[in-house]
Amino acid sequence: ESFEDCSLGEIVRNNIALSRYSKPTPVQKFAIPIILARRDLMACAQTGSGKTAAFLVPILNQIYEMGPVDTNQAGRQYGRKKMFPMALVLAPTRELASQIYDEARKFAYRSKVRPCVVYGGADIGAQMRDLDKGCHLLVATPGRLVDMMERGKVGLDHCKFLVLDEADRMLDMGFEPQIRRIVEKDNMPPSGKRQTNMFSATFPKEIQMLARDFLDNYIFLAV
Ligand code: AMP
Repeated sequence: ESFEDCSLGEIVRNNIALSRYSKPTPVQKFAIPIILARRDLMACAQTGSGKTAAFLVPILNQIYEMGPVDTNQAGRQYGRKKMFPMALVLAPTRELASQIYDEARKFAYRSKVRPCVVYGGADIGAQMRDLDKGCHLLVATPGRLVDMMERGKVGLDHCKFLVLDEADRMLDMGFEPQIRRIVEKDNMPPSGKRQTNMFSATFPKEIQMLARDFLDNYIFLAV
């Protein structure tokens, strides 16, 4: 009934304490051990359930254990630095992406992991300059990420963790082609070589199909 039961490393435990989360919400209680065990997860959870920390805490913990790679130096192409994040979180809107980013900064505090956020409707040059400072965990809306990939600014070859947050809303907004493009095997390690977690408020046929296509032997959780 506490975060202490989850066998998390010191950085994450300290940052949870700083964020004053005293006990895990139900989705956190179930999802954190599943993700720490490196299983793919399909979770039905609403906004407000604490789902953001439910995926950020175990993913950041795994990155701390692996040791964050130097994404800055990972590749240089066409005179422009190309960034290779270790983790990618896709979200439907600028607002949600910003909230996830804020939460990621809390849990990455005093670590070597640098989160970044990119979304449409804002200056892409400023976002690219921010990526240049380092980008281990990238939070992105699908359209803007495809743009960054086409410009050769972001590569997902080393991306070991993929989260689709509010997957049903992303499909409602028409992002399925962009999502499929991003997750295509030539762009990202295939399922089985990455860990994929999907969160969705609802679980209609289209989401079941996405889960079948993107997840590997996944655990289903409804809270
Ligand atoms: P989310 O569902 O991830 O959007 O989270 C909803 C709100 O609950 C956010 O403002 C979080 O900061 C907060 N929150 C998440 N987990 C906890 C927790 N274990 N204890 C207290 N507040 C939390």
